[in-house]
Amino acid sequence: MTFTVGQALKHMVEVFTVAGIPSPHVDAEFLLEHVTGLSRVRQLMDRHVFLEHAEWDQLQDFMHRRASREPLQLLLGYTYFYGLRLKVCEGVLIPRPETETLVSLVIERNMKMKPRILDIGTGTGAIALALLHEIPFSDVTATDINPVCVRLAQQNAHKLSLRLKVQQGDLFAGLDGFFEIIVSNPPYLPDADQASEMPELKYESNIALYSGGDGLSLARRIVTGAVRHLKSGGILALELDPRNVKVLQEELDRKFWAASEVYPDLTGQDRFLLAMKR
Ligand code: GLN
Repeated sequence: MTFTVGQALKHMVEVFTVAGIPSPHVDAEFLLEHVTGLSRVRQLMDRHVFLEHAEWDQLQDFMHRRASREPLQLLLGYTYFYGLRLKVCEGVLIPRPETETLVSLVIERNMKMKPRILDIGTGTGAIALALLHEIPFSDVTATDINPVCVRLAQQNAHKLSLRLKVQQGDLFAGLDGFFEIIVSNPPYLPDADQASEMPELKYESNIALYSGGDGLSLARRIVTGAVRHLKSGGILALELDPRNVKVLQEELDRKFWAASEVYPDLTGQDRFLLAMKR
């Protein structure tokens, strides 16, 4: 037995709604497009067309996995970030749309033609690759402690033909020289948030998400390291938990930091901290 395009969509939306998926229609359409190649417009026009048996089998498999809260991006195998198509995989943070604002803030503030940029905890390589793509002649290094991320970021760079330098290591380990810009979206959720996390988050590793009792353990280490690795006048740009942005801003030592500013994400919550090194 197989379904028409319209019936398959309806069925998936029902299953996803029962499973508590926040955007059941969008997810159903994306999965249908992934399996059949039919664009979302085409899905409407061809709603009376029957799916092939193999397509229906594959779609059911994806549907069950999504209903058990496997992230849509992992099922598709990719996501888009700052206009770049990036491969994603289990255990690595899936780039979030709010992080695109961090990239925009860095691009707006960059004054140099060939800045040396460092992205700490790069994951898929999203921030580093977006900056490399947008800033002419930028020299971008990305680090991650997780070898899976290092490989993934290298693969993404290769696919996009971008010359990203990727290094495995803990934060600043093994880096030398100074940078004009240091950027990071570190793990920043307080450990206690694990109790109430969205089911999808268990597909990303905890070390990509959580950072100590208040969520600031890694961010504090990044601030300390950035003092040693930024040029004078260089910028540190961080994404943080809205509960914590002003806390970390208060902790910045005026001896090392000339100025700092907090910026909101698109939903109006404080999420970004930019600081200029003396
Ligand atoms: N913004 C992510 C979330 O809320 C957390 C990502 C991070 O820790 N950098 O799921």
